[in-house]
Amino acid sequence: MTWHVDTEDLRAYAQGELAPPMLWSADTHLTACARCRGVLAEVGDPVSLDAGWERLDAELDAPRPGLFERLLLRIGVADHIARLLSATPVLRRSWLGAVVAVLVMSVLAAQIADSPALFLALAPLLPLAGVALSYGPALDPTYEMAVVAPVHGFKLLMIRTVAVLAAGLGLDGLATLALPGFGLRALAWLLPALALTSTGLALTARLGPVLAPSLVGGAWVALLLAAHAHDATATLVPFTAAGQGVAAGVAALAGGLLFLVRDRFDRFQGTAV
Ligand SMILES: [Zn+2]
Repeated sequence: MTWHVDTEDLRAYAQGELAPPMLWSADTHLTACARCRGVLAEVGDPVSLDAGWERLDAELDAPRPGLFERLLLRIGVADHIARLLSATPVLRRSWLGAVVAVLVMSVLAAQIADSPALFLALAPLLPLAGVALSYGPALDPTYEMAVVAPVHGFKLLMIRTVAVLAAGLGLDGLATLALPGFGLRALAWLLPALALTSTGLALTARLGPVLAPSLVGGAWVALLLAAHAHDATATLVPFTAAGQGVAAGVAALAGGLLFLVRDRFDRFQGTAV
């Protein structure tokens, strides 16, 4: 090795005053050169030295931002929020792939049976399941990161919900385009989707992130089965004009309730470990 970090620079490094790009050269060189580490140990005080090594470790360990995260950063999303969103499991390929598979099958079923009933029944469940899976320590590998992230409780929930809802509703919407024969009838999933998701979230504050969405999803399936048993030939109740009105009302009520209980999410998150 022919080059060594100059003693003055090592002193500045030890005091945390060395600026890039010299800082980076010094960091890199010090990992490989025992002689400069020796000089550094003589000129520097141990506290700031530790800070230097920690910073180096952190830089080496930091994951490179993926495509999705870089896209979010490019459109102006703050970096800690971009990191959080790109680490949200339901915004990853496996979950989105599963959603697409369910939608493709229900669209095919609608075309074969010449009825959008199965599609309309499944489409509202997807955003609910997505939001449920994106929240809660039991299901979320990024939960620990979410706890230490500078965004907490309700705000975190809302950021993720909006992102997951946008993805879920967007995919549902694309699937609707594959059913042009049913016209506006194929859009009847939208209001129930909003009603189920907002009710699931509002109940999550009281019942937790597993029970609440399970109950809401179960109630939806039970309602559809009951309506089907009552009259299998008619349009199922939630997709009639009256049912759509009720769904809009439920969505608005649950949205209001969610806003009222927003403080519970911070407490819930703190105690759920
Ligand atoms: Zn050296």
